[in-house]
Amino acid sequence: MEKQLEELRQQLQKQCDINQELQKQNKDLEHRLQEKEKLLQELQSNYEDLEFPSPCSNEANAEVRKSRAAVMAPEPIPENLEITRARVKKSVSEASLIVKSIQKNDFLSRLDDEQTAMMVDLLVACDFSPGSDVIKEGSEGDGMYIVAAGELQVTQAGQELRTLTSGDVFGELAILYNCKRTATVKARTVVRLWCMERQTYRTIITNKSKKKREQLMGFLKTSRTLKDLNDVQLSKIIDSMEEVKYQDKDVIVREGTEANTFYIILKGEVLVSKNVNGYQKQIRRMEKGQHFGEQALIREVLRTATCTADGPVTCFSIDKEVFEETIPIEHLELFDDSKVLQEAETPEKSSPSSSLKLKDLLPVLYQEGRFQGEPVTLGLGGFGRVELVTTIQRGKYYAMKRVSKKHIVAKRQEEHVLFEKKILKALQSDFIVRLHAAIKDTRYIYMVMEFCAGGEIWTKLKEVGRFTEPVAVFCTACVVEAYAYLHKKNIMYRDLKPENLMLDAQGYVKLVDFGFAKEMVRGEKTYSFVGTPEYMAPEIIQNQGHDFAVDFWSLGILIYELLAGSPPFSSSEPQKIYAKILDGVLKYPAYLSEAAKSIISKLCRPRPGQRLGNTKNGIKDVRHHRWFSSMNWHKLRVGQLEAPTVRLIRKGPCYINFDRFPYDQAKADEEFSGWDKDF
Ligand code: ATP
Ligand code: MG
Repeated sequence: MEKQLEELRQQLQKQCDINQELQKQNKDLEHRLQEKEKLLQELQSNYEDLEFPSPCSNEANAEVRKSRAAVMAPEPIPENLEITRARVKKSVSEASLIVKSIQKNDFLSRLDDEQTAMMVDLLVACDFSPGSDVIKEGSEGDGMYIVAAGELQVTQAGQELRTLTSGDVFGELAILYNCKRTATVKARTVVRLWCMERQTYRTIITNKSKKKREQLMGFLKTSRTLKDLNDVQLSKIIDSMEEVKYQDKDVIVREGTEANTFYIILKGEVLVSKNVNGYQKQIRRMEKGQHFGEQALIREVLRTATCTADGPVTCFSIDKEVFEETIPIEHLELFDDSKVLQEAETPEKSSPSSSLKLKDLLPVLYQEGRFQGEPVTLGLGGFGRVELVTTIQRGKYYAMKRVSKKHIVAKRQEEHVLFEKKILKALQSDFIVRLHAAIKDTRYIYMVMEFCAGGEIWTKLKEVGRFTEPVAVFCTACVVEAYAYLHKKNIMYRDLKPENLMLDAQGYVKLVDFGFAKEMVRGEKTYSFVGTPEYMAPEIIQNQGHDFAVDFWSLGILIYELLAGSPPFSSSEPQKIYAKILDGVLKYPAYLSEAAKSIISKLCRPRPGQRLGNTKNGIKDVRHHRWFSSMNWHKLRVGQLEAPTVRLIRKGPCYINFDRFPYDQAKADEEFSGWDKDF
C-alpha cells in the first residue's frame, strides 16, 4: 500500500514537473508572440506613416488620436530664471549621453543646436531609490527626464509596458504643456535621472527667442536700405527670413553673379574679397551682426564682391522675391484699428435679445426616442454642456452653454471665460456664432448663443469620410470671411479645427468656441503654447513667438483635413505629431487637385512670414488663390450663395443633426469668490 502510494506520489511529482515545464514553454511562447505583435505594430505604424491618411478608417487606425482637445500653457512669466537657476556642470561623458538621448528622441531631436546645448546645461540630477515612483499615471506632468543610470519600469493601468535604462527619455511632452501622464514610471534599482521642469525650459526658450528677435531687429536697423521701415515691418521681414549654415571656405556670394539675397551674419566670420587684376584681394572681414547684399533687395545688380565663410558661419537671409512679398505691407492700412476692446465695451445695440433672462428660457425636450421628455443636450465640452432652449414669446431657439463656476475656478480658467464672453459679445459677423446674452447665478455662468441647427462640421466629416472639393471650398471660404473680420479687429483665433465649426440651418459655417482667441498688437508676438496639436504651427511648438500667421497655418491643415478626412500630421502620441509638424513634410493623397495642393502648401509654409495670407497683400491672396476660383465672395458675404453643405443637413426635429445625451440632474456646487462680477 505504502509502496503504491509512493509510486503515485512520484508519478504526481513527475506530472507536476512536466506541467511546470509546459507552463514555462507556454510563457516563452506567449512572450515571443507579444514581441512579434509589438514588431508587427511597429511595422504597421511605419507602414501607415508611409501611407496617406485614409478617410473613414479613423477607428481602425491606431495612429489617430481619439479626442482632440485643445491644450494651453500660458506665456511663461519672465522670471529671472536664467540667473537664479544654476547651470549644472556635466562631465564630457554625461553631456554626450544627454546629447545622444536627445538625438534619438522623436520630438527632442528637432531642437536646434542652441536649444540642445541649453538642455544639456540646465538638466539637473535627481536620485531615486528602488520602488519609488518618478511619475504617476493620471497626474499632471511638470517635467521631463533622461535616465543617467539604473533601471525603471513603465506601467499603464497596472500592465507592464517596458523597461527604461540609461539614455532613455521619458515624460518629454510635459516640457511643452501640463499634459496628464499616461503611464507610471517606477524605479526598479537605484536610479539617477537628468530632469528638467517645464517652467525652466519654456522661460529660457522664450527669453532666448525674444532676445534673438530684439537682436535681429537691431541688426536690421543698421541697414541703410531698411532704416526707414517701422518695427512692424521689420518684424515681418524677420518672420520671412531663414537660417542658413555654411562650412569653412564656402562661398556665400560670388562677385559678378546676379544678386538676389540679403544676409545677416548670426555666427562666425565672413571674408569679403574682390578680383583685382586676376587676384582675389581681401578687402574686409565681417562678423556677427553685420550684413551684406542689401542692394540685392531693391535693385537689379550683380555682386560687387565675393563673400566666403571663414570657419563655420550661420546667416539669416531673405530672397528678393520673398522680400517683395513682405514689404510694403498693405495690412497696415487695412488693419490699423486696435480699438476692439473699446468696441467690446460699447453695448450691443442691434441685438434685441440681449435682455434675455434665465427665467424666460425654457428647455426644449426630446420628442421621441429613449430620452423622450428630457431636455435636449446639444453637446458636451471640456467645461460644461450646451443645451437647446427656447423662449415662450418668440419661439426662437438658442444654444445655451452652461459651465460650473466652481469648475472654472478649479481649472483656473476665469480669465479665459471672461475674455471669451467679452470677445464674443463684441463680434458681429455672419461667420461667427452670435452671443445673445451672458447670464450667471450662484452655480453657473450661461452663454446664450445663436443656435446652429446644422450641427458640427466634425460630425458631418466623420459621416461622409471626406468632403468633395465644392463643399470644402465653401466651408473654407466661410472661415476665410470669419478670419478677415477677426484679423481686422486684431484678434487671432488660434483654435481652428472641424470640431469648432458649426453649420447653421442654411448650411453656412460659423466659428464657435473663442476660448483661445487673443487680441494682439500688430508686430508683436505672444509666447503661449496653445492650440490643438494637429493644428499647431511650428513656431508655437518651438516657442519662437507667434501671431496672426498661425491662423493661416491652421487654415491649410483644415483644407487638408476636409479633403482627406484626416489631418496631414497625425499620430496617437502628441509628441510624434509635433515632430512631424517640425519636419514639415506634407504628403498628399493622389486624389487631391493641383489647386488644393498648391493652397495647402502655401498656407503651411514653415516660415510665418512666407505664408499665404500673411504676406504683403494679406488675406486677399488667400481669396485670390485659384482653389477659390469658383467662389463668388460677394455673394457669400451677403448670404446669397446656395450652400453645397445643405445636403449634409438632416431634416426632422430641430436637434436631429446632433448626438443625443442623457440629462444630468446633478447640480454643481455654489461658488461665491466674485471673479464673475464682470460676466
Ligand atoms: P471644449 O472647450 O472642450 O471644446 P466647450 O465647453 O468650450 O468645449 P463648445 O465647444 O463651445 O464647448 O461646445 C460644445 C458642443 O456643444 C459643441 O461641440 C457643439 O456640438 C455644441 N454647440 C456649441 N455651441 C453651439 C451652438 N451655438 N449651436 C449648436 N450647438 C452648439
Ligand atoms: Mg469646443
